[in-house]
Amino acid sequence: MTASNKLESLVTLQKALTLVKSIRDEIEKAPARIQAVEDDKAARKAALEKERETHRDHQKKLKTAELDLGKAEEDIQKKQVQIHSIKTNKEYTAMEHEIAALKTKIKTCEDTILTLMEEVEQETRHLKLREQEILGEIKELDAKSAELSRTLEQKKTELVQAETAAQEARNNVHNTLIGTFDKLYARNRGKAVVPVFGNSCSHCNVSVTLQTLAQLQDGWDIIRCEGCSCILYMDKTEEAV
Ligand SMILES: [Zn+2]
Repeated sequence: MTASNKLESLVTLQKALTLVKSIRDEIEKAPARIQAVEDDKAARKAALEKERETHRDHQKKLKTAELDLGKAEEDIQKKQVQIHSIKTNKEYTAMEHEIAALKTKIKTCEDTILTLMEEVEQETRHLKLREQEILGEIKELDAKSAELSRTLEQKKTELVQAETAAQEARNNVHNTLIGTFDKLYARNRGKAVVPVFGNSCSHCNVSVTLQTLAQLQDGWDIIRCEGCSCILYMDKTEEAV
């Protein structure tokens, strides 16, 4: 196995492991993403329910005000009849006060009813629109959630394939290098073998000597960066650019 073949197998393994990691990351994030959509749905439903509750509350208040008004009107009629059969001035004055109080109450009830009727009417119209709007939003969120679940399943399949590919790539690595590779890969968070860009290591930016560059170009041996200890290679595509 030549040095360049060894390097190539390391690069392949690193790429395969990077892919495995990125798929795993996606899979890990998926439940939270799905949950966020579900939370969003629940929040929209709750907001609509709150508006419905306010509407029901106003309807109830309107009903109560209407009953109060009816009762006050009945009372005032009775008292207006009763006042004719009153004997003393004191009772008469008291009854007049009661009638005046009832008139005030009727006025208040009528005002309340007018205000509430307007509110209830507006809310009814508004709620119809909101219900349609939220229904549409929930439909979209359902589709989003289903899409996320589908993607998750797809990623699980991709992970199995990527893990198999990574195992195959590992089997192709020369056994004298695998230990070094694993140590570097773990220590440098996924970077064990890195290309040289220009005249420096693309991982730590430490310059590479001309001699090292020449050795790399010749595919002479496995060479480690003096800065980060990563295994260096010449990226042929970068070189062409
Ligand atoms: Zn370096």
